[in-house]
Amino acid sequence: MATMPEKRCYYDVLGVDRTATDAQISESYRRLAMKYHPDRNPGDDEAVIAFKEAAEAFEVLSHAEKRSRYDRFGHAGLQGAGGGAPRFHDVSDIFDAFGDMFGDFFGGGGRGGRRRVRRGADVRCNLTLNLLEAANGVAKEVQFERHEKCATCHGSGAKPGTHAEQCPYCGGQGQVIQSTGIFSMRTTCPSCHGTGKVIRDPCHECRGGGYILRQVTRKIVIPAGVDNQTQVRIGGEGEPSPEGGPPGDCYCIISVTEHSLFERNGQHLVCQIPISYSQAALGAKLEVPTLDGPDELKVPAGTQNGEVFQLKGRGMPDPRHRGKGDLLIQVHVEVPKKLDNEHKQLLRRLAEMEQRNVTPERKSFFKRLGEYFHAE
Ligand SMILES: [Zn+2]
Ligand SMILES: [Zn+2]
Repeated sequence: MATMPEKRCYYDVLGVDRTATDAQISESYRRLAMKYHPDRNPGDDEAVIAFKEAAEAFEVLSHAEKRSRYDRFGHAGLQGAGGGAPRFHDVSDIFDAFGDMFGDFFGGGGRGGRRRVRRGADVRCNLTLNLLEAANGVAKEVQFERHEKCATCHGSGAKPGTHAEQCPYCGGQGQVIQSTGIFSMRTTCPSCHGTGKVIRDPCHECRGGGYILRQVTRKIVIPAGVDNQTQVRIGGEGEPSPEGGPPGDCYCIISVTEHSLFERNGQHLVCQIPISYSQAALGAKLEVPTLDGPDELKVPAGTQNGEVFQLKGRGMPDPRHRGKGDLLIQVHVEVPKKLDNEHKQLLRRLAEMEQRNVTPERKSFFKRLGEYFHAE
């Protein structure tokens, strides 16, 4: 037997007193249902649990007989034959049971009222961009698969010249009423799976499904600044709704290829530039690459190996906000591997000078080295 999780007091769940009127209970439930509504909390499992908990509390407290049994015996009073507290397995069960009291608030209003029309499923596609395309934004064509109405039967699923017939099990309602004791609930018809129809003579093209998988090509405008895993939505290009509701969306998932010069770090770009010892020592004007083409960077005399220079606002744009990251130029002092004679002579001369003129850092280093060797 499954163990029951510990239940909260229904009055606490709805945040009302034990003396609350029916109107107060309805009002409180309506407020909670709006707050935890799945459409407002997509992907939030805790909101779904809270939504179900509130519905269960409301189901009991809005029912005079159940409420009085609950007041006298607590949760135990609702268990056993005929008196079971409702188990809402699915959020749609809650809409089925209480959809009426919300009217247009819960969307899908009009069109038969009670039944919530589900939108079609979302689909995905992938798109690879280079760094410049990601930085500037670009229009691209993407291809993806999704179902479309069958052209032969116009989506009915029935062979041309024939028609789908009303489901005899549910009388075309798509839903049946299931009673458990005093509590009854509408559920999706198990025979027609909610369509309300049966097809005796299926269309050959779509084998009665009414839809065919198609590859579609769409143009998509990518905003500037996207990064790996950014999702760009193409509204209304997903799967059609089986219940005649709005279609889903297509989400295009971006990958950005690595650039040979720029390494991306969020909105910042890092570029490694080699400089010579003399440039580092004397200072220099360097030609550096930027997203907008070559630019000039002045490094001061005495530039150290690994030093970073910031070019503010020359990085990647932020696709959500205004503003750009920075371009960070990191310099690396290169030691030449091949030297001509003149070069060698100059360096030997330099070495001789360095024997006499030791820089403060070197002095302290040699001092520490001496201390290390003569510690005793
Ligand atoms: Zn067809
Ligand atoms: Zn049916």
